[in-house]
Amino acid sequence: MNGSRTIPLRPAASPARLPLNGKHFYIWTIGCQMNAADSAKIAAMLLEAGYQQTASESAADLVVLNSCVVRQAAEDKVAGRLSSLIRLKRQRPDVSIVLTGCMVTKQQERLREQFPHVDLFFDPSDFDKLERVVPELGAMKDDLAELPHYYLPEASTSGVTAFIPIIYGCNFLCSYCIVPYRRGKERSRPMSDIVREVEQVVAKGVREVTLLGQTVNAYGHDLEPTTNLAKLLTAIDAIPGLDRLRFLTSHPKYMSDEIIDTMAALPSVCEHMNLPVQAGDNEVLRRMRRTYSRDDWKDRIAYTRQQMPDVTVATDIIVGFPGETDAQFQRTHDLLAEVGCDKVHLAMYSPRPGTLSVRWEDDIPHEEKQRRHQALEQLQEQLCTERNARRLGDRVEVLVDDQARGRWSGRTRGNTLVHFADDRNVMGQLVDVSITRTSPWFLIGEPAVDPHSGGAISPQISNDL
Ligand code: SF4
Repeated sequence: MNGSRTIPLRPAASPARLPLNGKHFYIWTIGCQMNAADSAKIAAMLLEAGYQQTASESAADLVVLNSCVVRQAAEDKVAGRLSSLIRLKRQRPDVSIVLTGCMVTKQQERLREQFPHVDLFFDPSDFDKLERVVPELGAMKDDLAELPHYYLPEASTSGVTAFIPIIYGCNFLCSYCIVPYRRGKERSRPMSDIVREVEQVVAKGVREVTLLGQTVNAYGHDLEPTTNLAKLLTAIDAIPGLDRLRFLTSHPKYMSDEIIDTMAALPSVCEHMNLPVQAGDNEVLRRMRRTYSRDDWKDRIAYTRQQMPDVTVATDIIVGFPGETDAQFQRTHDLLAEVGCDKVHLAMYSPRPGTLSVRWEDDIPHEEKQRRHQALEQLQEQLCTERNARRLGDRVEVLVDDQARGRWSGRTRGNTLVHFADDRNVMGQLVDVSITRTSPWFLIGEPAVDPHSGGAISPQISNDL
């Protein structure tokens, strides 16, 4: 950890912000961190163009919905949200309504027919299209080309953490997944662009950066000359003032020894790995077209734990995949019990039009999917209860990024949520916290008392440019 250094900062490239024009925008986002990063970039562009953000769509001149279609439930929510805007458009025809995100790709004509009140549809990350409803952006094009995703603190939740895409798309074709059809083939961003963007956000006060990609650890193979995530992590780790570096989502196939060794060696890279397994049965994995076996996945976790004993592991699991038998589900259950992940993102299978698995009968009844989901949830709760109970009395480093109901909240380097009370203003600070209570999902503590200095806060990096 390169924690609390006070360092000379280079000024970030700064486009000239246009004066306020009295217009307001509202952004609604659903889905993955990639969508959140895209929405932050859109917000930053609009702020630069003289717009102000509002929390109410009825007060907005521009409403942007950033959509997700990975699950039916998400797609239904977007459709509901779009329909609810019909009334707003009738009352105020001058409001511009924009739809972006995965729902838009390859089906703009159908959407235009279904939602004629929407003024603009644009593909994820195709930000130039916004100019059609925000003409102010046209004059700023050159400046905006340099605008990073989290250029402005007000475009992120706290200004402390930033999510930065490094690779778009996915070259895998998992049989249940719509992402490759909507986001296209893998396209890595040049390393120099990413490093410059991280320098800019760090200069603005960001202390933790999460690198994003659908297959983030595939980074660099498509660049000329080729490079890889290990080299990118090394370049970013060298940026003065960055305390924490994370990345998600990794694919087991690309989780090389080199990446794991580099994670272990670099002070800023957090002891946390996000490595979806999706199923614990090899036949289900084969039909999912995941290209690895349960032993391959286990081997990657074991090697990471060997190199980084404190590492925490998050994974994703889908229950109720077509044809998944009781015995196959049980193997997933057993794998989870054996490996003991720190966080599990669970989903019940839902067929997505356009994917391979939609051709197979969705033969696991909803009630059975729910039963399997609950069984894994209960197992996970039991594992997390036991694991967190062992942390009672530990002293952990928390990066504070939220305050609610009279207490501060933040995450450890292992990504565990911690709440604590403190009379000081510790937003954006690294605080050492002693754990006094535990629960399966978070820890509660109090600021640790340092016997030597009497304090346990690392000073925030100066933002004076
Ligand atoms: Fe989808 Fe598989 Fe690509 Fe992940 S690796 S985005 S699940 S196709």
